[in-house]
Amino acid sequence: MSNTFIGGIRLPYMNPAPDIPSEPISPAQIRLTVPEGFRLVVGAGAQVSVGETLAVSENGLPDLLSGISGTVTLSDSPAVVTVLNDGRNTPSAACAPLEKGIDLYDGEELREALLKRGLALPPAENKSPLCLIVDCCEHDSFSSAAARLIFEKTEAVLGGIRILLKLFGVGKAICAVPKPMYECANALCAQLGSGGMIRTKLVSGKYPQHEPHMLISALFNIELNPAVTPGRVGYPTVTAETCAAVYEALALGIPYTTAYITVSEQTLVSKNYYVPFGTALSELVSAFGWPEGEEYGLRVGGGMTGRSADGSFRTAPDTFAVVLTAEKKKSVPRACISCGRCRAVCPVRLLPSLIAEYAAEENHRLAGALHAETCIGCGCCNAVCPAGIDLKAGVWSEKLRLLEEGASHE
Ligand code: SF4
Ligand code: SF4
Repeated sequence: MSNTFIGGIRLPYMNPAPDIPSEPISPAQIRLTVPEGFRLVVGAGAQVSVGETLAVSENGLPDLLSGISGTVTLSDSPAVVTVLNDGRNTPSAACAPLEKGIDLYDGEELREALLKRGLALPPAENKSPLCLIVDCCEHDSFSSAAARLIFEKTEAVLGGIRILLKLFGVGKAICAVPKPMYECANALCAQLGSGGMIRTKLVSGKYPQHEPHMLISALFNIELNPAVTPGRVGYPTVTAETCAAVYEALALGIPYTTAYITVSEQTLVSKNYYVPFGTALSELVSAFGWPEGEEYGLRVGGGMTGRSADGSFRTAPDTFAVVLTAEKKKSVPRACISCGRCRAVCPVRLLPSLIAEYAAEENHRLAGALHAETCIGCGCCNAVCPAGIDLKAGVWSEKLRLLEEGASHE
Protein backbone atom coordinates (compact mmCIF):
# COMPACT_ATOMS: atom_id res chain seq x y z
CA MET A 1 0.00 0.00 0.00
CA SER A 2 1.24 3.51 -0.67
CA ASN A 3 0.32 6.68 1.13
CA THR A 4 0.40 10.31 0.19
CA PHE A 5 0.83 13.69 1.87
CA ILE A 6 -1.23 16.84 2.00
CA GLY A 7 -0.81 19.36 -0.82
CA GLY A 8 1.69 18.89 -3.63
CA ILE A 9 0.85 18.51 -7.30
CA ARG A 10 0.66 15.60 -9.65
CA LEU A 11 2.99 16.17 -12.58
CA PRO A 12 3.54 14.19 -15.74
CA TYR A 13 6.59 11.96 -15.31
CA MET A 14 9.25 11.53 -17.94
CA ASN A 15 9.33 7.93 -19.04
CA PRO A 16 12.39 6.42 -17.27
CA ALA A 17 12.89 4.14 -20.33
CA PRO A 18 14.76 1.20 -18.77
CA ASP A 19 15.98 0.11 -22.21
CA ILE A 20 17.68 3.41 -23.20
CA PRO A 21 21.10 3.63 -21.48
CA SER A 22 22.64 6.98 -20.57
CA GLU A 23 25.40 8.38 -22.76
CA PRO A 24 28.75 9.27 -21.17
CA ILE A 25 29.96 12.80 -21.93
CA SER A 26 33.69 13.48 -22.34
CA PRO A 27 33.87 17.29 -22.32
CA ALA A 28 36.67 19.28 -23.97
CA GLN A 29 37.36 20.75 -20.53
CA ILE A 30 35.89 21.03 -17.05
CA ARG A 31 35.92 24.24 -15.05
CA LEU A 32 35.45 24.28 -11.28
CA THR A 33 35.25 27.32 -9.03
CA VAL A 34 37.35 26.91 -5.88
CA PRO A 35 34.99 27.77 -3.01
CA GLU A 36 36.03 30.01 -0.15
CA GLY A 37 37.84 28.07 2.57
CA PHE A 38 39.48 25.69 0.04
CA ARG A 39 43.23 25.48 -0.64
CA LEU A 40 44.48 24.73 -4.16
CA VAL A 41 46.88 21.77 -4.30
CA VAL A 42 47.68 21.83 -8.03
CA GLY A 43 49.60 24.42 -10.01
CA ALA A 44 49.17 25.69 -13.56
CA GLY A 45 50.48 23.16 -16.10
CA ALA A 46 50.05 20.15 -13.76
CA GLN A 47 48.88 16.89 -15.30
CA VAL A 48 45.97 15.44 -13.35
CA SER A 49 44.12 12.15 -13.57
CA VAL A 50 40.48 11.21 -12.94
CA GLY A 51 39.72 11.61 -9.25
CA GLU A 52 42.84 13.64 -8.50
CA THR A 53 42.49 16.30 -5.81
CA LEU A 54 42.49 19.88 -7.10
CA ALA A 55 41.69 21.68 -3.84
CA VAL A 56 41.12 20.66 -0.21
CA SER A 57 38.67 22.14 2.26
CA GLU A 58 39.81 23.65 5.51
CA ASN A 59 36.29 23.25 6.95
CA GLY A 60 35.65 19.52 6.66
CA LEU A 61 33.96 19.64 3.23
CA PRO A 62 34.63 17.12 0.42
CA ASP A 63 37.78 17.65 -1.63
CA LEU A 64 37.39 19.23 -5.07
CA LEU A 65 38.33 16.49 -7.57
CA SER A 66 38.84 16.30 -11.30
CA GLY A 67 36.39 14.15 -13.24
CA ILE A 68 38.68 13.94 -16.30
CA SER A 69 42.41 13.61 -16.94
CA GLY A 70 44.38 16.44 -18.52
CA THR A 71 46.30 19.68 -18.01
CA VAL A 72 45.45 22.30 -15.39
CA THR A 73 45.12 26.01 -16.08
CA LEU A 74 44.29 28.52 -13.34
CA SER A 75 42.56 31.88 -13.20
CA ASP A 76 41.90 34.19 -10.29
CA SER A 77 38.97 36.15 -8.85
CA PRO A 78 37.10 34.04 -8.36
CA ALA A 79 39.70 31.27 -8.33
CA VAL A 80 38.84 28.80 -11.07
CA VAL A 81 40.58 25.54 -12.01
CA THR A 82 40.21 24.39 -15.60
CA VAL A 83 41.29 20.94 -16.73
CA LEU A 84 41.82 20.52 -20.47
CA ASN A 85 40.76 17.00 -21.38
CA ASP A 86 43.52 14.77 -22.81
CA GLY A 87 40.90 12.09 -23.56
CA ARG A 88 42.90 9.40 -21.78
CA ASN A 89 40.72 9.04 -18.69
CA THR A 90 43.72 7.98 -16.61
CA PRO A 91 42.48 6.97 -13.15
CA SER A 92 44.13 8.47 -10.07
CA ALA A 93 46.16 6.08 -7.91
CA ALA A 94 44.97 8.01 -4.83
CA CYS A 95 41.41 6.82 -5.32
CA ALA A 96 41.86 3.11 -4.69
CA PRO A 97 39.26 0.95 -2.89
CA LEU A 98 39.71 0.79 0.90
CA GLU A 99 42.58 -1.52 1.78
CA LYS A 100 40.78 -3.50 4.46
CA GLY A 101 37.20 -4.76 4.59
CA ILE A 102 34.70 -1.98 5.27
CA ASP A 103 33.73 -3.61 8.60
CA LEU A 104 37.26 -2.94 9.90
CA TYR A 105 36.80 0.86 9.80
CA ASP A 106 34.81 2.95 12.25
CA GLY A 107 32.29 5.58 11.18
CA GLU A 108 34.71 8.50 11.48
CA GLU A 109 37.31 6.78 9.30
CA LEU A 110 34.70 6.00 6.64
CA ARG A 111 33.41 9.60 6.62
CA GLU A 112 37.00 10.84 6.30
CA ALA A 113 37.66 8.43 3.40
CA LEU A 114 34.50 9.68 1.65
CA LEU A 115 35.56 13.34 1.96
CA LYS A 116 38.81 12.44 0.21
CA ARG A 117 36.71 10.87 -2.57
CA GLY A 118 34.54 13.95 -3.03
CA LEU A 119 31.52 12.98 -0.96
CA ALA A 120 29.88 14.30 2.21
CA LEU A 121 27.14 12.51 4.16
CA PRO A 122 24.44 14.06 6.33
CA PRO A 123 25.51 14.03 10.00
CA ALA A 124 24.33 11.24 12.32
CA GLU A 125 21.92 13.41 14.33
CA ASN A 126 20.26 10.73 16.41
CA LYS A 127 22.02 8.08 18.51
CA SER A 128 19.27 5.49 17.94
CA PRO A 129 17.94 6.03 14.42
CA LEU A 130 14.78 4.14 13.50
CA CYS A 131 15.24 3.65 9.78
CA LEU A 132 17.45 4.82 6.93
CA ILE A 133 15.31 6.38 4.19
CA VAL A 134 16.64 6.07 0.65
CA ASP A 135 15.11 8.69 -1.62
CA CYS A 136 14.69 6.99 -5.01
CA CYS A 137 12.53 9.82 -6.41
CA GLU A 138 13.06 12.18 -9.29
CA HIS A 139 13.54 15.71 -7.97
CA ASP A 140 11.55 17.20 -10.83
CA SER A 141 8.97 16.00 -13.32
CA PHE A 142 11.33 16.72 -16.22
CA SER A 143 13.99 14.45 -14.77
CA SER A 144 14.55 10.72 -15.23
CA ALA A 145 18.12 10.83 -13.89
CA ALA A 146 17.30 8.98 -10.64
CA ALA A 147 15.57 6.19 -12.57
CA ARG A 148 18.53 5.95 -14.93
CA LEU A 149 20.93 5.64 -12.01
CA ILE A 150 18.85 2.91 -10.37
CA PHE A 151 18.67 0.91 -13.61
CA GLU A 152 22.38 1.23 -14.35
CA LYS A 153 23.79 1.03 -10.81
CA THR A 154 21.34 -1.18 -8.93
CA GLU A 155 24.11 -3.18 -7.26
CA ALA A 156 26.01 -0.05 -6.23
CA VAL A 157 22.85 1.53 -4.75
CA LEU A 158 22.21 -1.57 -2.62
CA GLY A 159 25.90 -1.94 -1.70
CA GLY A 160 25.94 1.71 -0.59
CA ILE A 161 22.83 1.20 1.55
CA ARG A 162 24.54 -1.68 3.36
CA ILE A 163 27.54 0.53 4.14
CA LEU A 164 25.31 3.39 5.28
CA LEU A 165 23.34 1.10 7.62
CA LYS A 166 26.62 0.52 9.43
CA LEU A 167 27.66 4.14 9.26
CA PHE A 168 24.39 5.43 10.71
CA GLY A 169 24.10 2.51 13.18
CA VAL A 170 20.63 1.62 11.97
CA GLY A 171 19.06 -1.82 11.49
CA LYS A 172 16.81 -1.27 8.48
CA ALA A 173 16.42 0.79 5.34
CA ILE A 174 13.48 1.62 3.09
CA CYS A 175 13.96 2.52 -0.56
CA ALA A 176 11.10 4.95 -1.23
CA VAL A 177 10.14 4.78 -4.91
CA PRO A 178 7.30 6.88 -6.39
CA LYS A 179 4.52 4.85 -8.01
CA PRO A 180 5.27 6.02 -11.58
CA MET A 181 8.79 4.63 -11.13
CA TYR A 182 7.58 1.10 -10.28
CA GLU A 183 10.09 -0.36 -12.78
CA CYS A 184 12.88 0.96 -10.54
CA ALA A 185 11.26 -0.75 -7.54
CA ASN A 186 11.19 -3.97 -9.58
CA ALA A 187 14.91 -3.59 -10.44
CA LEU A 188 15.81 -3.15 -6.76
CA CYS A 189 13.54 -5.99 -5.58
CA ALA A 190 14.98 -8.37 -8.18
CA GLN A 191 18.39 -8.08 -6.48
CA LEU A 192 17.11 -7.91 -2.92
CA GLY A 193 14.99 -11.03 -2.72
CA SER A 194 12.62 -11.24 0.23
CA GLY A 195 13.34 -10.45 3.89
CA GLY A 196 16.56 -8.75 4.94
CA MET A 197 17.24 -5.29 6.26
CA ILE A 198 16.43 -3.39 3.03
CA ARG A 199 12.87 -3.03 1.78
CA THR A 200 11.35 -1.18 -1.16
CA LYS A 201 8.12 0.74 -0.80
CA LEU A 202 6.05 2.64 -3.37
CA VAL A 203 5.00 6.14 -2.35
CA SER A 204 2.86 8.90 -3.81
CA GLY A 205 4.05 10.30 -7.12
CA LYS A 206 2.91 13.79 -6.20
CA TYR A 207 5.58 16.49 -6.34
CA PRO A 208 7.53 17.26 -4.04
CA GLN A 209 7.56 13.54 -3.19
CA HIS A 210 11.37 13.63 -2.79
CA GLU A 211 11.43 16.24 -0.02
CA PRO A 212 12.47 14.27 3.10
CA HIS A 213 9.53 15.38 5.29
CA MET A 214 7.06 14.53 2.54
CA LEU A 215 8.76 11.21 1.90
CA ILE A 216 8.53 10.21 5.56
CA SER A 217 4.94 11.44 5.76
CA ALA A 218 4.07 9.28 2.72
CA LEU A 219 5.94 6.25 4.10
CA PHE A 220 4.70 6.21 7.67
CA ASN A 221 1.61 8.40 7.65
CA ILE A 222 3.16 10.72 10.21
CA GLU A 223 3.80 14.43 10.07
CA LEU A 224 7.16 15.94 10.88
CA ASN A 225 7.81 19.56 11.71
CA PRO A 226 9.44 20.95 8.53
CA ALA A 227 11.78 23.01 10.73
CA VAL A 228 13.24 19.80 12.27
CA THR A 229 15.54 17.62 10.17
CA PRO A 230 14.31 14.02 9.67
CA GLY A 231 17.68 12.75 10.89
CA ARG A 232 17.07 14.32 14.28
CA VAL A 233 13.88 12.34 14.78
CA GLY A 234 15.46 9.07 13.69
CA TYR A 235 15.05 9.03 9.91
CA PRO A 236 18.39 9.89 8.26
CA THR A 237 17.63 10.37 4.55
CA VAL A 238 19.98 9.91 1.61
CA THR A 239 19.42 9.76 -2.13
CA ALA A 240 19.94 6.66 -4.24
CA GLU A 241 22.72 8.62 -5.96
CA THR A 242 24.55 9.09 -2.65
CA CYS A 243 24.24 5.36 -1.89
CA ALA A 244 25.74 4.41 -5.26
CA ALA A 245 28.51 7.00 -4.84
CA VAL A 246 29.38 5.68 -1.34
CA TYR A 247 29.72 2.13 -2.64
CA GLU A 248 31.76 3.14 -5.67
CA ALA A 249 34.05 5.40 -3.61
CA LEU A 250 34.78 2.92 -0.81
CA ALA A 251 34.45 -0.51 -2.40
CA LEU A 252 35.51 0.21 -6.00
CA GLY A 253 37.79 3.26 -5.59
CA ILE A 254 35.73 5.38 -8.01
CA PRO A 255 35.57 8.96 -6.70
CA TYR A 256 32.42 11.07 -6.87
CA THR A 257 33.12 13.29 -9.85
CA THR A 258 30.34 12.46 -12.28
CA ALA A 259 26.53 12.40 -12.18
CA TYR A 260 23.47 11.58 -14.25
CA ILE A 261 21.75 14.55 -15.85
CA THR A 262 18.51 14.52 -17.82
CA VAL A 263 18.27 16.92 -20.72
CA SER A 264 14.73 17.41 -21.96
CA GLU A 265 13.10 19.57 -24.55
CA GLN A 266 10.09 20.47 -22.41
CA THR A 267 8.24 17.19 -21.76
CA LEU A 268 8.56 15.99 -25.35
CA VAL A 269 11.98 14.37 -25.59
CA SER A 270 14.49 13.48 -22.94
CA LYS A 271 17.91 11.89 -22.81
CA ASN A 272 20.18 11.03 -19.92
CA TYR A 273 23.90 11.72 -19.82
CA TYR A 274 26.66 10.73 -17.42
CA VAL A 275 28.55 13.99 -16.99
CA PRO A 276 31.72 15.06 -15.09
CA PHE A 277 31.12 18.01 -12.73
CA GLY A 278 32.28 21.29 -14.28
CA THR A 279 31.07 20.49 -17.83
CA ALA A 280 29.58 23.42 -19.78
CA LEU A 281 25.87 22.99 -20.55
CA SER A 282 26.62 23.92 -24.18
CA GLU A 283 28.30 20.49 -24.50
CA LEU A 284 25.11 18.80 -23.30
CA VAL A 285 23.03 20.86 -25.71
CA SER A 286 25.26 19.71 -28.62
CA ALA A 287 25.12 16.09 -27.47
CA PHE A 288 21.31 16.40 -27.33
CA GLY A 289 21.39 17.25 -31.04
CA TRP A 290 20.15 20.85 -30.85
CA PRO A 291 20.60 22.38 -34.32
CA GLU A 292 23.93 24.24 -34.63
CA GLY A 293 23.50 28.03 -34.43
CA GLU A 294 19.83 27.87 -33.32
CA GLU A 295 19.10 29.89 -30.17
CA TYR A 296 17.97 28.14 -27.02
CA GLY A 297 16.94 28.85 -23.44
CA LEU A 298 17.97 26.68 -20.50
CA ARG A 299 16.52 25.98 -17.11
CA VAL A 300 18.83 24.16 -14.71
CA GLY A 301 17.20 21.99 -12.05
CA GLY A 302 14.04 21.33 -14.03
CA GLY A 303 10.72 23.03 -14.45
CA MET A 304 9.63 23.43 -10.80
CA THR A 305 12.53 24.97 -8.91
CA GLY A 306 15.00 25.43 -11.73
CA ARG A 307 16.75 28.64 -12.62
CA SER A 308 17.55 30.18 -15.98
CA ALA A 309 21.06 29.65 -17.29
CA ASP A 310 23.03 29.89 -20.50
CA GLY A 311 25.34 27.42 -22.23
CA SER A 312 28.36 28.53 -20.20
CA PHE A 313 26.79 27.27 -16.94
CA ARG A 314 28.89 24.44 -15.43
CA THR A 315 27.37 21.24 -14.04
CA ALA A 316 27.61 20.45 -10.31
CA PRO A 317 26.32 17.66 -8.03
CA ASP A 318 22.87 19.32 -7.85
CA THR A 319 22.42 19.64 -11.65
CA PHE A 320 20.05 16.72 -12.07
CA ALA A 321 17.94 18.12 -14.93
CA VAL A 322 18.25 20.67 -17.70
CA VAL A 323 15.22 21.83 -19.66
CA LEU A 324 15.88 23.13 -23.12
CA THR A 325 13.47 25.54 -24.81
CA ALA A 326 13.50 27.26 -28.18
CA GLU A 327 12.55 30.58 -26.63
CA LYS A 328 12.86 31.87 -23.12
CA LYS A 329 9.39 32.06 -21.61
CA LYS A 330 8.65 35.55 -20.38
CA SER A 331 5.65 36.15 -18.15
CA VAL A 332 4.51 39.37 -16.58
CA PRO A 333 2.91 38.79 -13.16
CA ARG A 334 -0.64 40.04 -12.69
CA ALA A 335 -2.60 40.82 -9.52
CA CYS A 336 -3.69 38.02 -7.17
CA ILE A 337 -7.26 36.90 -7.85
CA SER A 338 -7.58 35.12 -4.47
CA CYS A 339 -8.26 31.75 -6.07
CA GLY A 340 -6.63 29.91 -3.16
CA ARG A 341 -4.72 27.42 -5.32
CA CYS A 342 -1.38 28.28 -3.75
CA ARG A 343 -2.76 27.41 -0.31
CA ALA A 344 -4.27 24.16 -1.55
CA VAL A 345 -1.01 22.82 -2.94
CA CYS A 346 1.42 23.99 -0.25
CA PRO A 347 2.62 20.72 1.36
CA VAL A 348 3.40 22.46 4.65
CA ARG A 349 0.06 24.30 4.76
CA LEU A 350 1.39 27.83 4.45
CA LEU A 351 -0.54 30.79 3.05
CA PRO A 352 1.92 31.70 0.28
CA SER A 353 -0.14 34.59 -1.15
CA LEU A 354 -0.36 36.32 2.23
CA ILE A 355 3.26 35.74 3.21
CA ALA A 356 4.47 36.99 -0.19
CA GLU A 357 2.24 40.07 0.17
CA TYR A 358 3.63 40.83 3.65
CA ALA A 359 7.16 40.22 2.37
CA ALA A 360 6.61 42.74 -0.44
CA GLU A 361 5.32 45.28 2.12
CA GLU A 362 8.30 44.44 4.37
CA ASN A 363 5.85 43.57 7.11
CA HIS A 364 8.21 40.97 8.56
CA ARG A 365 6.32 40.59 11.83
CA LEU A 366 3.17 39.29 10.08
CA ALA A 367 5.14 37.21 7.57
CA GLY A 368 6.95 35.60 10.54
CA ALA A 369 3.66 34.98 12.37
CA LEU A 370 2.56 32.89 9.37
CA HIS A 371 5.56 30.54 9.84
CA ALA A 372 7.44 31.32 6.65
CA GLU A 373 10.40 29.47 8.20
CA THR A 374 8.75 26.12 7.43
CA CYS A 375 8.75 26.67 3.64
CA ILE A 376 10.55 23.80 1.89
CA GLY A 377 11.10 25.75 -1.33
CA CYS A 378 9.27 23.22 -3.51
CA GLY A 379 7.82 25.82 -5.91
CA CYS A 380 4.32 24.22 -5.99
CA CYS A 381 2.72 27.61 -5.22
CA ASN A 382 4.45 29.20 -8.22
CA ALA A 383 3.50 26.34 -10.52
CA VAL A 384 -0.25 26.70 -9.91
CA CYS A 385 -0.61 30.49 -9.59
CA PRO A 386 -2.72 31.66 -12.56
CA ALA A 387 -1.45 35.21 -12.01
CA GLY A 388 2.17 34.14 -12.48
CA ILE A 389 3.30 35.61 -9.14
CA ASP A 390 6.70 34.45 -7.85
CA LEU A 391 5.33 33.47 -4.44
CA LYS A 392 8.23 31.19 -3.57
CA ALA A 393 10.74 34.03 -3.81
CA GLY A 394 8.77 36.11 -1.29
CA VAL A 395 8.20 33.24 1.16
CA TRP A 396 11.79 32.01 0.85
CA SER A 397 13.26 35.45 1.51
CA GLU A 398 11.16 35.65 4.71
CA LYS A 399 12.34 32.19 5.70
CA LEU A 400 16.00 33.18 5.28
CA ARG A 401 15.42 36.37 7.23
CA LEU A 402 13.76 34.46 10.11
CA LEU A 403 16.54 31.84 10.18
CA GLU A 404 19.18 34.56 10.27
CA GLU A 405 17.31 36.31 13.05
CA GLY A 406 17.07 33.02 14.98
CA ALA A 407 20.80 32.37 14.54
CA SER A 408 21.72 35.85 15.77
CA HIS A 409 19.60 35.28 18.93
CA GLU A 410 21.34 31.97 19.75
S1 SF4 B 1 5.24 28.32 0.21
FE1 SF4 B 1 7.12 27.12 0.15
S2 SF4 B 1 6.51 25.06 0.80
FE2 SF4 B 1 4.64 26.15 0.28
S3 SF4 B 1 4.26 25.62 -1.86
FE3 SF4 B 1 5.42 27.53 -1.88
S4 SF4 B 1 7.59 26.92 -2.04
FE4 SF4 B 1 6.40 25.07 -1.42
S1 SF4 C 1 -2.52 31.06 -6.58
FE1 SF4 C 1 -1.89 33.15 -7.20
S2 SF4 C 1 -3.80 34.16 -7.74
FE2 SF4 C 1 -4.38 32.31 -6.56
S3 SF4 C 1 -4.48 33.01 -4.41
FE3 SF4 C 1 -2.42 32.28 -4.72
S4 SF4 C 1 -1.29 34.16 -5.28
FE4 SF4 C 1 -3.45 34.62 -5.59
